[in-house]
Amino acid sequence: MKIKIFEDLIKEVHEVGICQQCGGCVSFCNSIENEVIDFKEPNLPPEYINRKKCLECGICYLICPQTHLLDEDLNKTFKFSDFSLMPIGFVDNIYSCQSMDKDFLKYGTDGGVVNTLINYLIEKKIIEGAIVAKTKSPFSREAIIAKSKEDLIDASGTKLDISTQLDTVQKFHTYTSSLPNLRRYKFRKLAFVGTPCQIYTIRCMQNLGIIPSENIEICLGLFCYENFFFDRIKLRQFEEQFKIKFKNIKRINIKENLIIELKDHKTSQNLINISFKELKDYMRPACEFCKDFTNIYADISFGGLGSPDKFTTVITRTKKGKDIIHRIIKTGMINCLSIDSSIKKKMKEKIIQFSQFKLERNK
Ligand SMILES: Cc1cc2nc3c(=O)[nH]c(=O)nc-3n(C[C@H](O)[C@H](O)[C@H](O)COP(=O)(O)OP(=O)(O)OC[C@H]3O[C@@H](n4cnc5c(N)ncnc54)[C@H](O)[C@@H]3O)c2cc1C
Ligand code: SF4
Ligand code: SF4
Ligand code: SF4
Repeated sequence: MKIKIFEDLIKEVHEVGICQQCGGCVSFCNSIENEVIDFKEPNLPPEYINRKKCLECGICYLICPQTHLLDEDLNKTFKFSDFSLMPIGFVDNIYSCQSMDKDFLKYGTDGGVVNTLINYLIEKKIIEGAIVAKTKSPFSREAIIAKSKEDLIDASGTKLDISTQLDTVQKFHTYTSSLPNLRRYKFRKLAFVGTPCQIYTIRCMQNLGIIPSENIEICLGLFCYENFFFDRIKLRQFEEQFKIKFKNIKRINIKENLIIELKDHKTSQNLINISFKELKDYMRPACEFCKDFTNIYADISFGGLGSPDKFTTVITRTKKGKDIIHRIIKTGMINCLSIDSSIKKKMKEKIIQFSQFKLERNK
């Protein structure tokens, strides 16, 4: 049987319009030193740069989240069968938690739990840093490695100067291709924070034993209903449709809606909520083909959905994830609401409902 290679990804993924631009193929190309493939244009799939040096090994095809070749193996490892039977994957336990660190809580998207956990893992020397996404503007992020509390807070986008960026940046993207960053930190123990499509690629590489996936100590997965893409035209359309000026946006959160906090907002009552249905025009096209809402292959998944304001929903999935959450709860660095099984059931039902909305969209 002919091995499928990058050429086939172009035909079957790029040309069909379903490339998620995760950067997995670029980061883990077997001939990376020859720069065979790379991103040439922002917001477009990667391309051949040096076709002659392609080893035709097929690694890029195997690990692409849109080819699903390794699903059977991954499903065994992560106790998953099918989205119709397990829309939110295997759940070891579910919590609703908040950081006890006032800075992480203040700057956190929800309960500031992800950053608190990363900081704890760094302090305990379990990891040397984490690949996270730094906010450049409300709808634009870039991947960075955070090695300290200061880096983590800095990445949360609290010192944005959006007005100047609006003049120079032509495109805004909530999606961050963070996988290519792994190349630069080959021999470090890292945590990786990512959306379901990114965590999927990492798991494929770990499954195949491809370096540098082995330096990922833990996968912290974010829930992800969809991601957004704005060029100048869409930006203007968005501003007119929702009567919001981009430059007045202080922060965004994605929960059961897109939640926009304006710079001059006073109380949570005047946060602007926009439903996903109204945001169809701004969704990244690749997200339309994605089924996973809760990050089923992560060690631990995090989202806002299911929890009260300023709390994070935490789903432990693997033994590693479970042990780490137990350890940090014991330290008192995060506080978990004491919720009984009926509340947990309700939380799960809500999350399942959104997973099903996403699956419906996919049909
Ligand atoms: C694109 C996107 C879509 C989401 N959609 C939903 C949704 O539909 N429903 C829902 O309930 N929750 C969603 N979430 C998750 C939610 O917004 C919070 O990230 C999550 O609840 C954790 O909150 P926290 O306060 O504990 O995290 P924090 O302590 O604030 O830490 C969040 C960490 O994630 C990193 N980060 C943020 N964005 C990215 C990114 N794109 N790639 C890699 N790292 C990143 C930050 O740098 C930070 O280190 C989404 C997140 C993202 C990024
Ligand atoms: S060398 Fe292998 S991984 Fe790289 S582009 Fe060619 S087939 Fe893909
Ligand atoms: S691995 Fe990621 S970037 Fe590469 S073709 Fe697949 S979806 Fe696109
Ligand atoms: S919806 Fe899917 S494809 Fe889109 S960013 Fe989220 S995980 Fe990736």
